[in-house]
Amino acid sequence: MQFKTDLMPALIEAIDKTIQENAEQVTTLDQILGDGDHVINLQRGLNALKKNHHDYPQQIWSEAWQKTGMTLLSTMGGASGSLFGTFFISMSKSSKNDATLNQKTFSEAYIQAVEAVKKRGKSKAGEKTMLDVLIPVSELLQKNINLPDDLSTLLDEIATTATNGMESTREMLATKGRASYLQEKSIGHIDAGAKTNQLIICAITKELKKHL
Ligand code: ADP
Ligand code: MG
Repeated sequence: MQFKTDLMPALIEAIDKTIQENAEQVTTLDQILGDGDHVINLQRGLNALKKNHHDYPQQIWSEAWQKTGMTLLSTMGGASGSLFGTFFISMSKSSKNDATLNQKTFSEAYIQAVEAVKKRGKSKAGEKTMLDVLIPVSELLQKNINLPDDLSTLLDEIATTATNGMESTREMLATKGRASYLQEKSIGHIDAGAKTNQLIICAITKELKKHL
């Protein structure tokens, strides 16, 4: 299976929809553990991305990821803005001149991008952040990297892994970001960034299944 950049508008619309539908729940989570602005930051970024829709079909992946990252960096704000920006700019660096992506080339770029986010956030798994969703998905892609393409099964596994990762943040003690100020009181609540990353990943896998 080969994906081209003309898929981007449909993916962004699917993400925008799921974030809108879950906005209230995520805001409540970020009010408990942070300052309540995470959805607003994300929606600002998504609204800016929607203005790029007409450019995507003419681009190769490195251009599409670069534009996505720069747009998010310059519009989102918050800790999450620089982490999302870092993610896509790293995707861009790994995608070279690719006009299409397949399971292997996407996985290689994604794994590198998660490493870049870890470095930027000075954080690792188990610290109650979006990385508790991104890292398990990265490990799953790594495990499948040399296996023959079976995208339908892999997409289902990615969605399950993201959901389990999001749920796992509930019992974690926050040691990074604003939630860390709460110390033991952070235990018992899902991290807002883990929730939005799970929503984003599940929206993407659902949309991609329509294109197999
Ligand atoms: P802010 O915390 O500046 O208000 P947001 O509310 O937009 O920014 O994003 C908060 C989310 O960002 C958290 O829920 C967490 O998932 C993620 N986050 C914050 N700091 C880090 C970090 N150092 N590493 C990884 N993720 C982080
Ligand atoms: Mg916040």
